[in-house]
Amino acid sequence: MNLSKFERFPLMHGKSPVHPLKRLSQHLGGAEIWAKREDVNSGLAYGGNKTRKLEYFLPEAIRQGCDTLVSIGGVQSNHTRQVAAAAALAGLKCVVVQERWVDWPDSVYDRVGNILLSRIMGAEVILDQSGFDIGIRDSWKRALELVESRGGKPYAIPAGGSDHPFGGLGFANFAEEVAEQEKELGIFFDHIVVCSVTGSTQGGMIAGFAGQDRPRKVIGIDASAKPDATRAAILKIARMTAEQIELGRDLSDADVILETAYGGPVYGQPNEGTLEAIKLAGRLEGMLTDPVYEGKSMHGMIDMVQSGAIPKDAKVLYVHLGGAPALNAYSSLFS
Ligand code: PLP
Repeated sequence: MNLSKFERFPLMHGKSPVHPLKRLSQHLGGAEIWAKREDVNSGLAYGGNKTRKLEYFLPEAIRQGCDTLVSIGGVQSNHTRQVAAAAALAGLKCVVVQERWVDWPDSVYDRVGNILLSRIMGAEVILDQSGFDIGIRDSWKRALELVESRGGKPYAIPAGGSDHPFGGLGFANFAEEVAEQEKELGIFFDHIVVCSVTGSTQGGMIAGFAGQDRPRKVIGIDASAKPDATRAAILKIARMTAEQIELGRDLSDADVILETAYGGPVYGQPNEGTLEAIKLAGRLEGMLTDPVYEGKSMHGMIDMVQSGAIPKDAKVLYVHLGGAPALNAYSSLFS
């Protein structure tokens, strides 16, 4: 794997922490579960998985002389919050489109959490009524044209920082980081559990881990409730990333594991299992997960350990991708 040829704009504290989840492992009565904490990977506006991806976008934006980062997500997008933070740090302007991806009744939904933080950091927030879709969006194209019509030079970052030539590089780099930390800790994680929606987190990881000697299972837990689109995105990005990092072999659908039982009822809304998992992780580990993403992947991991789908002697790395800033927008779930 050749990642060093790509320039990085450092946004993270360094390697994200890895630590055991002892009380959760004990509670489940098997599988040694650890967490790798992308939710605390940076001091930049609460971090999260997009921060690692943005390290590879910013050098290109600067090299091309762009003055405005333009991106898109739902109203409570963690991604656009991290884009706003990266723009602020790099001295760039930021325009973010927030679509109505989630029909959620809390009256403060579009005023607290991620969207509040983006506004504080100076991003121009454009609200749009379109529903959930991880594809390329007209509202985003209009935002790019808006910047141009004002004489600016936009740098286009698609939803989740995924469908972008460099979308998978951040998590190919994550795979390298895991291998280094395993050496330091004297452990090998044979199962990785990660939440998937727009696909570049898992796609980048699959490509990165494929370059290592020892095989392991990278289990994606779908949180889109539209798993066909998510699966296609993961495969596309894994293959593209494999080529970029000169993996030396092609990847296929057989390299993608995506569990689809935990993402419902729809994107952005939890099911009963999601809420139980959020409470369990909070009460046993003091670790916060959210109803949109990590609560669903936490539910999936817990259920797969309990059912034996993940064996009792497995060493599991739960990848916490962030998302807790959205919790304030979902306060009615916990009152
Ligand atoms: N977890 C959190 C907290 C996220 O913000 C996202 C973003 O969509 C994901 C998981 C899913 O990552 P990806 O979109 O790269 O599949």
